[in-house]
Amino acid sequence: MKKFLPIILIIFSVAVIQAQNKIAVTIDDLPLSRIRYYEKDYYQLVTDKLIENLKNQNAPVIGFVNEYKLYTDSTLDESKVKQLKKWVDAGFELGNHTFSHPSANKIPIEEYKQDIIKGERITKEFLKTAGKEMRYFRHPFLQTGLSLEVKNEIEKFLRENGYKIAPVTIDNSEWAFSFAYDKAFNQHDSVLMKKIGEDYINYMRDRLEYWEGQSEALFGRNISHTLLIHANPLNADYYDELCNMIRAKDYEFITLDEALKDEAYQSEDRFIKSGGISWIHRWAITRGKGKDFFGNEPETPKYIWDFTGLNYE
Ligand SMILES: [Zn+2]
Repeated sequence: MKKFLPIILIIFSVAVIQAQNKIAVTIDDLPLSRIRYYEKDYYQLVTDKLIENLKNQNAPVIGFVNEYKLYTDSTLDESKVKQLKKWVDAGFELGNHTFSHPSANKIPIEEYKQDIIKGERITKEFLKTAGKEMRYFRHPFLQTGLSLEVKNEIEKFLRENGYKIAPVTIDNSEWAFSFAYDKAFNQHDSVLMKKIGEDYINYMRDRLEYWEGQSEALFGRNISHTLLIHANPLNADYYDELCNMIRAKDYEFITLDEALKDEAYQSEDRFIKSGGISWIHRWAITRGKGKDFFGNEPETPKYIWDFTGLNYE
């Protein structure tokens, strides 16, 4: 035993030195992004596939709900409510993403507050039945207000209503890939769908590495990250590949609760510009970092913008 001791010590110290990277997966726009554009059979199929894959990964996730997606022509649609129920039944934590996905930068604060409350009705009831609570709020477009007054007022309102803000560090344009993926699907172009899927994973690897670098630059270490993706057909097909990529970068999947225990999230955020940007950059801007700190973000391939006709800003 004695002769093995140095080896054991070496293995132990390497394990201590190489603390595993940590990441929490957060999924927006439940029950399904762009559900109103899909036929019933299709949104049922995609929801089932996405939830099945999420469960198979055994990694915690939190989903953020827009209850306006439960309506068809202003009437509550039971088949859409059923899709939300699937998330609850799968045991996932759910948070509030407002009712109708407005920007805090664009509507009066009172309207915004009402939209938050309107957005919790059905989900809260479901969670209650499951013995759970709604604890987190995600700002639509990650837009948090154009003045400190508005930003602080929203934060106060959220606190008073039992919500904690769910920040995002690994910001990305996955939503644009998803839009392109849907368009390729509608054109029955499976070759393009495959290209978009593969490019999506490579792009997300680049983004992850970029934010690791920015975290190192700001905090001198890789903080516990919060990843934003959406409930969509792209992730229904590529969630396994996404998780494999993240695991290959030596990440452990943790809950949002655990991620926010990282003291980095106590950093001051006085960001009041229009962009829906990563909290790492909000903290950096608040700390007065100069222009050279920012930039060089891995870009979404140009063909994605061209094909979708979407505009980056
Ligand atoms: Zn959203």
